[in-house]
Amino acid sequence: MAAIINIAGLTPVNDPAYRYKMPRITGKVEGRGNGIKTVLMNITDVADALKREAPEITKFFGCELGAQTTYSADNRAVVNGAHRDNDLQSHLSKYIENFVLCKNCRLPETHYKVKDGLISQKCLACGSKDTVDMTHKLTTFILAQHKRNKEVKKAAEKEKEKEGKDGKKEKKEKKEKSGGDEKPSKSSSKEVTTGEDGEVVVEKKKSSKSKSSNSEVVPESVFTGVAAALEEESESKVVGKLIS
Ligand SMILES: [Zn+2]
Repeated sequence: MAAIINIAGLTPVNDPAYRYKMPRITGKVEGRGNGIKTVLMNITDVADALKREAPEITKFFGCELGAQTTYSADNRAVVNGAHRDNDLQSHLSKYIENFVLCKNCRLPETHYKVKDGLISQKCLACGSKDTVDMTHKLTTFILAQHKRNKEVKKAAEKEKEKEGKDGKKEKKEKKEKSGGDEKPSKSSSKEVTTGEDGEVVVEKKKSSKSKSSNSEVVPESVFTGVAAALEEESESKVVGKLIS
């Protein structure tokens, strides 16, 4: 388990009762030589604590360290090269300073607003709205991500609309069907209690009884046949007699 620390930018927050906490980032160095890399083991926990996207934070390390990064669908965040936890954490402090903390009240209560290619942070705690440092390379990534999220959201909304319409249609159809079904189902239940159906059932019972009594007779005769055959001779001959 990673140590839990106060969420702080470049100025440390020493208050032990501070309510904004995060796990220290932990990396695991894998591979060697040119293939050496650092896997950010708890990136999703860090991202949750900072209310930011894990791929964005991963990308930030790439920008700061001049290293290639990858973020795969199974939440595996990799930064090329070997990086110590202390270095990762100090870079993360820079990220928090620039992209998480409110510039006015310094609380990590902000969320991004994107308008006309400018990224601002709107603070939920004090209401302040400030533009982030747009010269940082990460802003390109944030804008691209924002665009993608918007497209995904749009597509999802369109699908919802479709589903909603289909759902309404289905409900209408169901209503119509159930409305139509109500009367016949009542009359059919009447049919069961009275008249024809009952008679049919009785007849079926009778016929099944007569059939079963017939079938009872058949095995008996077979059995007696077998018994007789057993008395006579070998099993193979019995089988032959049974088949014939
Ligand atoms: Zn604020």
